[in-house]
Amino acid sequence: MVTIRPELDVVTESLVELHGRLAALTDGTLADYIPQLALADPHAFALSLVSMHGDRYQAGEAGLPFTVQSVSKPFVYALALAELGLEEVSRWVGTEPSGEAYNAISLEPGTGRPDNAMINAGAIVTTALVSGGTCEQRFERILDCLSRFAGRRLDVDEAVYASEAQTGNRNRALAYLMSSTGALPATPSDAVDTYFRQCAVRVTTRDLAVMAATLANGGVNPVTGETVVPRHVAVQVLAVMASCGMYDASGAWLLRVGLPAKSGVGGGLIAVSPARFGIAVHSPLLDASGTPVRGVAVMRELSERFGLHLMHHPMRSAPTVTHADAGEWTGLVAAQGALDFTAAERLLRELSGVVPGTGGCVVLDLLDVTSIDAAGALMVSSALTRLEEQGHRAVLAVGPRAAADARLSAWQSFTSRQEALEWCENLRPAE
Ligand code: GLN
Repeated sequence: MVTIRPELDVVTESLVELHGRLAALTDGTLADYIPQLALADPHAFALSLVSMHGDRYQAGEAGLPFTVQSVSKPFVYALALAELGLEEVSRWVGTEPSGEAYNAISLEPGTGRPDNAMINAGAIVTTALVSGGTCEQRFERILDCLSRFAGRRLDVDEAVYASEAQTGNRNRALAYLMSSTGALPATPSDAVDTYFRQCAVRVTTRDLAVMAATLANGGVNPVTGETVVPRHVAVQVLAVMASCGMYDASGAWLLRVGLPAKSGVGGGLIAVSPARFGIAVHSPLLDASGTPVRGVAVMRELSERFGLHLMHHPMRSAPTVTHADAGEWTGLVAAQGALDFTAAERLLRELSGVVPGTGGCVVLDLLDVTSIDAAGALMVSSALTRLEEQGHRAVLAVGPRAAADARLSAWQSFTSRQEALEWCENLRPAE
């Protein structure tokens, strides 16, 4: 790993600046309904960011442990989704924002199914869905999953667990209520006990940033390289975090910050910038919805500063089509960069202008194309199939990257534009 020179480390500089300035924000209160959480240091404040290369940036005491609480919910949801699939999990837990507090009785009338997996009711069901013969085995699977997301073996803060187990009657009530309508796939006491243990897992701000970065990286932990959950599961979890992660403040959060996120009453907050980074904030002073006040402030500023909002339109680095030539027998289009929907749409339009008369050839020079996504491959291969059906020959010039792309292997390919053009010229009927 290359160590960044301090004068080039603008990421740390931003985090340190935000940390220094926002430490003055002392609004909010410690969670005290779990008595042990009221003993937290109200001044504790740390930020950590982990990139897609597994590089870490931080400000404040990012190695200080605290309990994960509700920030565990998206990761256990990911485990249930990976084990059972979205269809089965959705039979038990919905995917709609509740618009209510995290501990509300947000259950579907009739079925008793909780609105989503980010609120307590939904998280208790999700926990109960995780496979395991006994309570201990189920919790072991959960701890193992959280640990793989974090990239190190995590443990439980027994004092916080005992404190919540003693006082957690509201969660017990939710579990019994769901059980009464057949909406809980375990006994209420087992489900709640495992859920309390899961909430009491000890993490650091750095751990949470790695966990968030694993979701940002399509389920692959960028520090350890391990695939923790499949890519489609990471996408599903991020979607539910975006719509439901901040409880009754989810709409305002999506509007102002624009990133999937999750907070917990232990003071942890994660946000995910897909394909960019995972970030975590720790500050135990909470607002009325149970979210760290400084966490919200940090993320609002950071999102604005770096233009991270999901609805922000993506940057296009270079024009897709670099050359187009309409020959009498052979038409040529050369493209560069990433071939996604927008690039392929451009390319096919340019190609339209150079298609020769029936029987003639088209050459697509993709040598400077750096990557092709599902949309790009689908659009190019469908268009070329159509051209061949109409009696044209389609030929590619591709580099090693595109050549390895199975979706484009059906076409005659050459490793240089010249060879592709010569091959076409040889097909030209003698005058
Ligand atoms: N263990 C906590 C509870 O169930 C978690 C809540 C939270 O972090 N929002 O009340």
